[in-house]
Amino acid sequence: MTEHRIPLAGVIGNPVAHSRSPRLHKHWLKRYGIEGDYVPLHVVEDDLEQVIRTLPKMGFVGVNITIPYKVAVMQIADQVSDRATLIGAANTLIFRKDGKIHADNTDGYGFLANLRQNSRWEATAGPAAVLGAGGAARAVIEALLEAGVTEILLTNRTRDKADGLRHEFGSKITVVDWVQAGNIVEEAALVVNTTSLGMTGHPELRVPLDGLQPGQVVTDLVYSPLQTRLLREAEAAGCSVVDGLGMLLHQGVPAFERWFGVRPEVDDELRIAVLG
Ligand code: NAP
Repeated sequence: MTEHRIPLAGVIGNPVAHSRSPRLHKHWLKRYGIEGDYVPLHVVEDDLEQVIRTLPKMGFVGVNITIPYKVAVMQIADQVSDRATLIGAANTLIFRKDGKIHADNTDGYGFLANLRQNSRWEATAGPAAVLGAGGAARAVIEALLEAGVTEILLTNRTRDKADGLRHEFGSKITVVDWVQAGNIVEEAALVVNTTSLGMTGHPELRVPLDGLQPGQVVTDLVYSPLQTRLLREAEAAGCSVVDGLGMLLHQGVPAFERWFGVRPEVDDELRIAVLG
């Protein structure tokens, strides 16, 4: 007789105590009446591989991966999805029944699903302005191109990093100097902040925003605070605004479905549960 095992999932990081993922997944487990659990796992670098290889033996069906291991886990996985390969990082591991570890990146999916749930944005609406060229920007750019955006205006404080993304992702990307960020904000149908500027404990985003106009969609990946200066000014200018919390919620959907077999919903009740 096979032993009844409670399916477990979790999030691996260092630090990890701040992660909102346990609230997210525990809410869904409860809502769908699934006997399972989701735990934060603080792991030091030297133990990363051993922990990942041990978890499936303990009933884990998968884990989320957060800072600083999103790149390192790509080497440990047996299989990496195309989108994780393109982004160059993974945020989700699935421990398959055949013993193989599958790595995926659901950030880009979460970004688009959030945009589509909360605005009327369409890929054909016009150029997208992307501020920032870090890890989150890679997921956003991959998702925008996959969705069919034909022009991305990209700007980053360190221009080399933006040029590097253009080199990797191709000629649909036009790199603009950071000092000219205000101009691309004006020209774009969609404006996305992927920098950490505006986040609690970080400097404010100081890009000139007076060019924002009604009809534009503006979204910020920063969700703490929920209403950043960018979103506040965009709302005042009559733009359609989408906060970053929705991206966090939506990126969990494909992972939860693969781990627990139910495709969960993102709604207000979930937002409230995750905000606490
Ligand atoms: P990252 O790889 O460290 O990139 C940070 C980005 O911010 C870089 O473009 C960096 O520019 C820019 N930056 C930092 N300080 C700056 C400053 N003082 N002036 C100008 N630019 C500055 O971080 P990440 O993983 O991409 O994350 C970025 C943000 O997205 C974080 O706030 C994170 O919480 C958020 N995020 C949210 C979600 C979500 O689900 N909502 C998902 C992923 C990430 P340089 O290249 O010049 O340093």
